[in-house]
Amino acid sequence: MADAREARQAALRERLAADELDGLIVTHLPNIRYLTGFTGSAGILLVLQATTILLTDFRYEAQAPAEVGGAASVEIAAADLWDRAAKLLRGDHVRTLGFEDDVATVATVRRATQAVQGVELRPAGGRVEQLRARKSPWEVAAIREAARLAGEAFESAVGAVRPGVTERDVAVVLERELRRRGSEWHPFPTIVASGPRSALPHARTGGRSIERGDLVLLDFGAQLDGYCADLTRTVVVGCADERQRAVYELVREAQQRARDGVRAGMSGSAADALARGLIEARGYGAAFGHSLGHGLGLEVHEEPRLGRSNGEPLPEGAVVTIEPGVYFVGWGGVRLEDDVWLTGAGAELLSDGRTELRELP
Ligand code: ZN
Ligand code: ZN
Repeated sequence: MADAREARQAALRERLAADELDGLIVTHLPNIRYLTGFTGSAGILLVLQATTILLTDFRYEAQAPAEVGGAASVEIAAADLWDRAAKLLRGDHVRTLGFEDDVATVATVRRATQAVQGVELRPAGGRVEQLRARKSPWEVAAIREAARLAGEAFESAVGAVRPGVTERDVAVVLERELRRRGSEWHPFPTIVASGPRSALPHARTGGRSIERGDLVLLDFGAQLDGYCADLTRTVVVGCADERQRAVYELVREAQQRARDGVRAGMSGSAADALARGLIEARGYGAAFGHSLGHGLGLEVHEEPRLGRSNGEPLPEGAVVTIEPGVYFVGWGGVRLEDDVWLTGAGAELLSDGRTELRELP
């Protein structure tokens, strides 16, 4: 692990040198974790050409050195992290520093500008995210394990989906199964959306009682060693009617087509078109209003994006979701989501891929 962090920092330094930057101020916590292993909730990482310094506060006095090891020198700042950062930089001949303009708040930039007077700050967001998009075998293994755990939790919890039970009741059972199997946390609020509410792609789980004949959409995640899995299953309570069956089979076919066809090197928009083309050809294009998928890693939504607006090639080694959905307001919706690892040859399925139609008794 220490070697992986050093290699990540070395790759970042190469990139910074190419951009003529003396260093990068990293403020996005998942990026700090990626580069050092630090999991705390407050910190600034200075990646300079010769050293890496993590600044954090007294709450992490014991935790930070233990997690970071040799990947950075840890400075515990008694008062303001930025004052301390400025002092550390003063002796270091730093002229230009990048900062993460895509995530830094206006207040952070103002504070950084005041603190590091005499140093030119330049927008340099996305550098660490680009490195994070290509997963190492160790990272893929963590996501695969999280996905396996999530699939098993669903299998245990799906029996709780019954008429008269509320969405929240089902979420409680599912979240308990996820935690019991070792998920560190829920990387996003679990979605259980029933009946007409399943037409809301990002519904909040509510108090609605499930009825016979409902479509029930469950979107849930697991996290292991910080790495996220993200799955969606849609089930029918009782026997599916003709329309439910037709919509379900269309989404299933579209998802399978994307799983079979996606590979590294293809653009994000071409990947999206694998599923969208089929759904459009059947006349339901307008009912698939979101993108096909997103990257997974230390964050549940990260690079790369599989959507119409991404013309960039998908990087080799990325882990992404494949999640087409078709939704009709007032009726309901179907989404199926699995996680795959992209290689030049194709996509390797990391989740269980169990998308057969389930009609619950
Ligand atoms: Zn999801
Ligand atoms: Zn997702």
